[in-house]
Amino acid sequence: MNESLDFGTSNTGANEESLRMVSSQPIGNEPVSDEELRPHVLDGFIGQPRLKAQLQLFLDAARKRDVPPDHILLAGPPGLGKTTLAMIVANELEVPIRVTSGPAVQHAGDLASILSSLDTGEVLFIDEIHRLPRAAEELLYIAMEDFRVDVMVGKGPGASSIPLTLPRFTVIGATTREGMLPSPLRARFGFTAHLDFYPHEELEKLIDRSANVLGVNLDEGSAHEMALRSRGTPRIANRLLRRVRDWAIVHDLIVVHPADVKEALSLYQIDSEGLDRLDIAVLNAIVRNFNGGPVGLNNLAAMVGEESETVETVCEPYLVREGFLVRTPKGRVATQKAWQHLGLTPSDDVSKLF
Ligand code: ADP
Repeated sequence: MNESLDFGTSNTGANEESLRMVSSQPIGNEPVSDEELRPHVLDGFIGQPRLKAQLQLFLDAARKRDVPPDHILLAGPPGLGKTTLAMIVANELEVPIRVTSGPAVQHAGDLASILSSLDTGEVLFIDEIHRLPRAAEELLYIAMEDFRVDVMVGKGPGASSIPLTLPRFTVIGATTREGMLPSPLRARFGFTAHLDFYPHEELEKLIDRSANVLGVNLDEGSAHEMALRSRGTPRIANRLLRRVRDWAIVHDLIVVHPADVKEALSLYQIDSEGLDRLDIAVLNAIVRNFNGGPVGLNNLAAMVGEESETVETVCEPYLVREGFLVRTPKGRVATQKAWQHLGLTPSDDVSKLF
């Protein structure tokens, strides 16, 4: 994986991001509603077939050897199932799971007290592990390798450290920025899994499964319409499904037809490719105001009335990934696909459009 790959979870633009229906970060009370949709066994985890096969083998071997498995690192963009997989691993191994995150650990001592209270075989899930403070990271290397923590007793020159032996446990780290993990920490993981964006067919299966759980009756083709708009991300797929469910409830629908999905989601200004109002504003600005570009980021941001950072971290990653926009040394350029999506051709004289 590219070391500098940033999946866009830095704090920059986070507020703007959290307002968007197509955000890959949880919004509102979703952390709670996500729970009911989480599969609990590996079989129920949709897609990512290679990763599932690797993990299955890894867990089977640990079970046969009757020892806790090696530490596991899950890397990939937000909303693709890292937390879900961590819960599944603990459930499949029938062991408890303790959950914390890099930002929640403020001092090495916080981590030391979690580690020293773990039971044999327990899973310690550390979300956003790349955001652990440096001192905590160092403590974690030792704990992961030697199953020991040094507990500091006293303060100042008289302080001393007492080594405490820990039971064998398994750390599952999740990160959206694998490149930010120091290599000694990365080297402590016996198994690293990279989660990829999901193809439409897998998202369709996921939506069908979630619709079953939520009791939404989808007609043929309805899951497909939602999958097209989900940006390859299960969290977004589940969110769109919930909004479609609202629509069905309000309109007293017994079965949700594809036309209902289109209508419900266009109310939220999400188009057939999963682009929302801001994405379209960015493409429109490049195409209509700058004749397709190149245009500098600051000019572009001013044109759509957003901060440059918002455009760069919130909109652009998906537009670039889907081939609507390219970043060149001279600025942003709209691709042929972007023109077509807006119903224009690059030869149109854009000045006539107003
Ligand atoms: P992450 O930790 O990577 O941000 P989560 O594990 O919290 O993502 O997943 C977000 C939501 O998507 C959860 O409701 C989860 O149940 C659902 N989800 C993610 N991946 C899958 C999958 N492969 N199969 C079924 N549901 C999934």
